[in-house]
Amino acid sequence: HHIVEVHELEHTYPDGTAAVRGISFRIHHGEAVAVVGANGAGKSTLLLHLNGYLTPQSGTVRIGDFPLTKETVKDIRRAVGMIFQDPDDQLFMPSVYEDVAFGPLNLGLPPEEVEQRVQQALQRTGVEHLRERPPYKLSGGEKRAVAIATVLAMSPDILVMDEPTSNLDPLSRRTLIELLAGFHHTKIIATHDLDMVIDLCERTIVIHEGTIMADGPTTDIFNDD
Ligand code: ADP
Ligand code: ADP
Repeated sequence: HHIVEVHELEHTYPDGTAAVRGISFRIHHGEAVAVVGANGAGKSTLLLHLNGYLTPQSGTVRIGDFPLTKETVKDIRRAVGMIFQDPDDQLFMPSVYEDVAFGPLNLGLPPEEVEQRVQQALQRTGVEHLRERPPYKLSGGEKRAVAIATVLAMSPDILVMDEPTSNLDPLSRRTLIELLAGFHHTKIIATHDLDMVIDLCERTIVIHEGTIMADGPTTDIFNDD
């Protein structure tokens, strides 16, 4: 049984750009999958379909037992945590605590559970000490960790990340890779960071001009012969 199933997905933007042109794949529970390809290949457009930011124009997306539709999009967003390319798109409250609590509060959870989720998410991402700080004053690596904490606090089944190591200095990058290696969620990571692909993802999907050019074990994809 697959936790993610994308079948013959197509997406054309209103200006006529055919960004995704018939993509199909399935992902097992617990798998870590890299999505690689040149800028403009269609990686972000594909990822945005995995939690309903975009709805399929043609083809289907299924997450767990639910096909992605207008009726299921709320449940799917809860199951699929999305880390955007720019953490500033994700952090908008006056303090780290409030940003991480925002999602659980929105779920209507009781205060003790909100507190517990925030505490645990900050601990797992190593940013407990930043709890009272305003997110806009944090470093790139710290912001990224807080953005991940906001998502973990929602207890997602799947983590979807768009270039999580972009704009990070080498130490923050390494710290983030190690952090993600400790998560046993299903992970789907669009990236240009080959170290991260090799360290985290057993499988790699190569996208070229909106179609899948290769899909297989990372060791095969990056083996020249
Ligand atoms: P990648 O993430 O691999 O860089 P994208 O999914 O961002 O690729 O882009 C795929 C194609 O769709 C590119 O040609 C890009 O210019 C185009 N595109 C992306 N977003 C939009 C948009 N909102 N409107 C029109 N074209 C877009
Ligand atoms: P299982 O034996 O658990 O059913 P599979 O044999 O389908 O798993 O997959 C084993 C591994 O092969 C996965 O962890 C992944 O690395 C890779 N893999 C899975 N599905 C695909 C696919 N469609 N194309 C390429 N590689 C895949």
